[in-house]
Amino acid sequence: MINQILNGWKNFLDKSEVVEEVAKSRAKICAACASAKQGRLLAFIKDSLKEIEGAYCSICSCPLSAKIRSNDICPDNKW
Ligand code: SF4
Repeated sequence: MINQILNGWKNFLDKSEVVEEVAKSRAKICAACASAKQGRLLAFIKDSLKEIEGAYCSICSCPLSAKIRSNDICPDNKW
């Protein structure tokens, strides 16, 4: 999982069109999910997808800015 999240951060910085399209649809799902929580330590990370900015998944503890741009899976099978 660490490698997948690192890959997600790389994609966060690269901002490829294909990754961002996938991330956009995942962000909508995460934003409506009760497991998405705001993380104080993530508040400084600015994301173009405002609905998940500064949030993390409380099931896997991954920052959503990286997770939605990774090749990881949703731990609750929502995407
Ligand atoms: S990764 Fe899945 S479980 Fe976690 S916040 Fe997003 S939709 Fe919810």
